[in-house]
Amino acid sequence: MLTVGMIGLGAMGEHMARNLANAGYLHALYNRTTAKADKLGQELNVTVAQTPEALAADVDIVCLCVSRDEDVLAIIHTIKKTIRQNSVVIDMSTVSNHTAKQAAAFLACCNVDFLDAPVSGGVEGAKSGKLAMMVGGDSAVLEKVRPILTSMATRIVHIGATGSGQATKAVNQIMAAGINQAVTEALAFALAQQLPMDKVIDVISGGAASSWFLQNRGLSMTENHYPAGFKVALHQKDLAICLQMGHDSGVSLPLTLQTSDDYQQLIAEGLGECDISALYCLKTNLKTK
Ligand code: NAP
Repeated sequence: MLTVGMIGLGAMGEHMARNLANAGYLHALYNRTTAKADKLGQELNVTVAQTPEALAADVDIVCLCVSRDEDVLAIIHTIKKTIRQNSVVIDMSTVSNHTAKQAAAFLACCNVDFLDAPVSGGVEGAKSGKLAMMVGGDSAVLEKVRPILTSMATRIVHIGATGSGQATKAVNQIMAAGINQAVTEALAFALAQQLPMDKVIDVISGGAASSWFLQNRGLSMTENHYPAGFKVALHQKDLAICLQMGHDSGVSLPLTLQTSDDYQQLIAEGLGECDISALYCLKTNLKTK
């Protein structure tokens, strides 16, 4: 059986690691903040690597789920020194398609395959192992690791060449920005109409205007509660990637630009670590608890 190491145990990575462990693949963990890795490693009874290099030397497949482009590239540079030939690096972070191509090129020099495999489905999807995964890279490499990925995702789609998984994730993030605008604006309107918010969310969740976001974030946002799910600062980072890609390809993205500006305001108000449903605060002029 192929052995897997997981780097990055944040809101998403911790659940991914648990699912890899439940399926019997997880061999080693690494997290920058070591206390998290120590705790989870003890619970799952797997090796806790002290460095990314040590982890890469010890497994067949390296999975990553870290924050930003520079974090992915820093880890790729580091593990290049020790990674086993013919192993595979699977990056499930959301970064630019350009970063995916750079990472693949760095690793190709050491005979290591790379897949960009960003995910959608939120922390809930990571926990239940029901993520949607969009994959760029060699389809034969995807087939080799597909049994491992099915422990984390139920829908795994090969999109095309390296970077196409991240380009598809950019499409997802543009949609998520628009959905956030639509749901928070509509619920702010419902509040102004003095409607019973729980009933409004209940009935609309059963109709054509329903969405994952309304169903999973509607009630909590109307209670002025924004628990860490998908952080404003992370979506803001993704929208910068989308806006750059749109600019490069001559596509205007007005709703994405508006959402990016709104997130900048939330970040300036100290809400960057809140879930993106905190946009409801701006629409209603609420202060967070
Ligand atoms: P998170 O909770 O902020 O966790 C980020 C993880 O990356 C942490 O383990 C952090 O380590 C690690 N990290 C950050 N910079 C690093 C570096 N330079 N070197 C090593 N480790 C580093 O983020 P998340 O919500 O899990 O998201 C992770 C990725 O998945 C992001 O790219 C995000 O856009 C994407 N994503 C998130 C969601 C969601 O709903 N949350 C959904 C789909 C995709 P520390 O513990 O030391 O901080």
